[in-house]
Amino acid sequence: MSADRLSGVSEKRKPESVLLHPLGAAAAPEQELLCIFGTGDLGRSLGQRLLQSGYRVVYGSRRPHSCGPLPQGAQATSHEAAAQSAGLVFICIHRGHYDFLESLAPQLKGKVLVDVSNNLKKNIYPEANAEYLQRLIPGAHVVKAFNTLSAWALQNGPSDANRQVHLCGNSAEAKQAVAEVATKLGLSVLDKGCLSAARELEDFPLQLFPEWRLPLRVAVGLTAFFFFFLLIRDVIYAYVDQRKDISFRIMVSLANKVFPIVSLIMLCLCYLPGVMAAYLQLYRGTKYRRFPDWLDRWMLCRKQLGLIALGFAFLHVFYTLIIPIRYYVRFRIAASTISQVRENITSVFDNTTAWRVDSYYSVGILGFGLFLLLGITSLPSVSNALSWREFSFIQSKLGYLTVFFCTLHTYLYGWNRFLKPSSYKWYTPPGYLLCLAVASLLIVLKLLLLLPCVDRSLIRIRQGWERKDPEDSNTKALLA
Ligand code: NAP
Repeated sequence: MSADRLSGVSEKRKPESVLLHPLGAAAAPEQELLCIFGTGDLGRSLGQRLLQSGYRVVYGSRRPHSCGPLPQGAQATSHEAAAQSAGLVFICIHRGHYDFLESLAPQLKGKVLVDVSNNLKKNIYPEANAEYLQRLIPGAHVVKAFNTLSAWALQNGPSDANRQVHLCGNSAEAKQAVAEVATKLGLSVLDKGCLSAARELEDFPLQLFPEWRLPLRVAVGLTAFFFFFLLIRDVIYAYVDQRKDISFRIMVSLANKVFPIVSLIMLCLCYLPGVMAAYLQLYRGTKYRRFPDWLDRWMLCRKQLGLIALGFAFLHVFYTLIIPIRYYVRFRIAASTISQVRENITSVFDNTTAWRVDSYYSVGILGFGLFLLLGITSLPSVSNALSWREFSFIQSKLGYLTVFFCTLHTYLYGWNRFLKPSSYKWYTPPGYLLCLAVASLLIVLKLLLLLPCVDRSLIRIRQGWERKDPEDSNTKALLA
């Protein structure tokens, strides 16, 4: 008996991969009978959605008469009877209990078995659960699917949750049958290939922000380094040198020095690998050689580096906004005003300082505005609506403009303070100078790439041109 006939859902052959059905198909009444093994959380949620989509559902259970409340309209029976009554069986049972299925091999022969299982940890079994199921019942057509959806998501409807069903299996017909069921449930299907991809699908729900790990480690490392560096330079130095306790500054002043420094460095780290890749391509004279693994990894987490940098920039903005309401600041202003009145001193308006401070704030606001734009356009819903040219214009051209504004903002903050020997407490440079070094290096490297002769070579290389090695061509000529 073919899987098609058993499932009864696929009369015509359709190309596998993503299937898009008209909206009305989700609600079309189908009296197809489907079987679910296991009356647990997923079994019940899946059964309920199948019933709502017009299927009939029969459960295979160890205790068909006492298996608890089932979705209205579903029946429960023994595993043997349920397996015989339907062509498509969802195995909603934990892998640890699969062994008993071996005894059902005759009843499950030729049927489509949907393995929905996940594991608690990666690599606890030598083979994927779906491959194990296929080994237990070689006569069935095992399809791995639905494991990336939760019982909760199925119960609340796909509009509130993830809509994608990733599936894989060795039988195209069986996959087609499962894909049609998923589509009728209002889900979209993504075919991941043969059953050997099952391990990848099973590991998917266990992932914990894999692409965020490196950027987060960098952020934590930089924050910790600059926090202790500035703590020593600002707070501990003041205590040792002048016996002054300014430890209260840790909470706002110190934090508001660390955040912009980390933000600018991380923004530069977001653009640095692109520049390094360009130099590597120029040096090699080709774009067809793989980048080293570390550079590849670095390039892949640029978006996360940029978003974390934006988070630090936000913190900097918030911490700056509260400066006027700080007790310390209000106290200092009041004290200096009173002392000026007492001593009858009038401070002279300094035009240069006014220019510098206004430019410092203005450039900072512009940099932050552009930074926000970069963050917004990196969101999938926004970037999907942009053409490649629009996206690369914003992320590359406006991205470098952001780096430029933020660097200028930092230069204006430092102004000529770096010339004063008193800035180098215990022979250490001020924190902002360290981030300026990274940002300035990035800007210089990028400007060099923009030189017409360099830019031309890079464009040619990126269009597929390769530099011939003269020694290589001589050898070829001699051989010829
Ligand atoms: P569950 O609530 O523990 O239900 C498992 C069901 O398996 C039980 O209700 C029971 O049904 C049956 N069962 C238990 N022990 C058995 C045994 N020794 N022999 C035969 N059948 C046995 O688990 P679940 O949350 O529904 O998960 C079921 C499967 O779906 C798991 O592989 C899980 O990884 C996967 N999954 C779950 C979710 C989720 O959100 N829950 C999401 C994705 C994937 P009967 O008493 O009727 O026999």
